[in-house]
Amino acid sequence: MMSEKTKGQLLSEKLTYTKKNAYEKNPDEKDEIFSYCEEYKKYLDSGKTARSASREAVKMAQANGFKEYNFGANVKVGDKYYYVNRDRSLFLFIIGSENIEKGIRIIASHIDSPAIDIRANPVYEAGGMAFFRTHYYGGIKKYQWTAIPLALHGIITDKSGKKIDVCIGENDDDPIFYINDLLPHLAQEQCAKSLREGVDGEMLNIVLGSIPYDDEAVNEKIKLNVLAILNEKYGITEEDFLSAELTIVPALKAKDVGLDRSLIASYGHDDRVCAYPSLTALFSLQSPEHTVMAVLADKEETGSNGATGMKGSALDDIITDISVSMGKNERLVRANSMCLSADVCAAYDPNFANAFEKNNSAIVGCGIGLAKYTGARGKSDTNDATGEYTAKIARIFNENNVVWQTCEMGKIDFGGGGTVAKFIAERNIDTIDAGVPVISMHAPYELVSKADVYNMHKASKAFFESK
Ligand code: MN
Ligand code: MN
Repeated sequence: MMSEKTKGQLLSEKLTYTKKNAYEKNPDEKDEIFSYCEEYKKYLDSGKTARSASREAVKMAQANGFKEYNFGANVKVGDKYYYVNRDRSLFLFIIGSENIEKGIRIIASHIDSPAIDIRANPVYEAGGMAFFRTHYYGGIKKYQWTAIPLALHGIITDKSGKKIDVCIGENDDDPIFYINDLLPHLAQEQCAKSLREGVDGEMLNIVLGSIPYDDEAVNEKIKLNVLAILNEKYGITEEDFLSAELTIVPALKAKDVGLDRSLIASYGHDDRVCAYPSLTALFSLQSPEHTVMAVLADKEETGSNGATGMKGSALDDIITDISVSMGKNERLVRANSMCLSADVCAAYDPNFANAFEKNNSAIVGCGIGLAKYTGARGKSDTNDATGEYTAKIARIFNENNVVWQTCEMGKIDFGGGGTVAKFIAERNIDTIDAGVPVISMHAPYELVSKADVYNMHKASKAFFESK
């Protein structure tokens, strides 16, 4: 027989904040969590770059009755639109029945991930091999990208303006690409260096081949043979790399991890693990009260600059355009809008416990992390959400049985990071960071909990439907 709880136990339950595992909190959700994540894994594998993640999202939107938006359109209640910005970032929205001046519910995530970009003049020959030279994109630990299978993605725009899609390394019978590392037998000097210096940016060169072109009269025969293969396959010459956007990503598929299959390892959870749930939540809405919008941004990993990053004016332009079309005041629309900056947070890792303050870190499996502020060195560069707005979001999550937890990025003065939050907040829109905790963030193969992914979907839906 269960003994009655003591007065102290009851008081402790009432007064103490404890993080609770999502399976313990909602024991009936396991099947739903697991089946939801099967679809998420497919999205991960089909959208490894901003372009492909955006294109996949467009396909999903079209299948859900969304139409392409053009500036100047006459919008009306119930309309479902997507706006593609330069084949990289994406805005999807549904016009709600409520006056749009009551504000838009915006979820902003990003679909770019750390990767290794090919340089403008990349091909060279050395040591019996041909290589691409690269310039890495975003914050990576460079040594992690050596000696693993890699794939080549992107586009080449030739001089006539023709756009050629490139994807090599994803099909089972495709070749893959490779970055060399030094054998341990000769790595005494390398291993004595710091992790940062052991593999430097100029060493991240991509192996392309080793067969010489059959002509004694030519220098650099292996390079020429590689160029000949590229010319045959894509019709390009060396100069076309200048206008190419080619990216190296891990040639790894999303996989279940652990005996209980409760986790997913994948490239680029950051930040598709928030983008995908914002899409599924949006598509689940029939006729929302408030106007709702999912933003899939580009360039977050390099500071949100450029026309497709959140510093660009596309968000303002769309809000203004639809407000004007409905005869409404866009300044009022923005002032009354609410935004979830949906981006991943650092999960507490017991193997690196020293980097975290456990009470203020997100624990894997305990739901999505709600971060009032990010930043580093005395909260600099952060959007610090107001207490009032934070309380409102927590209330929305609680009322909808979303498993969530407080979080902050690691120990004070151990580093830090930013998100798109501040760029949206600068538009006079209440914004707070919320997202899925990630282990090994920015590694070629990152780890998340399936329960946390599913709770991001629940959180996104609750936010879109909030009053
Ligand atoms: Mn991110
Ligand atoms: Mn990131």
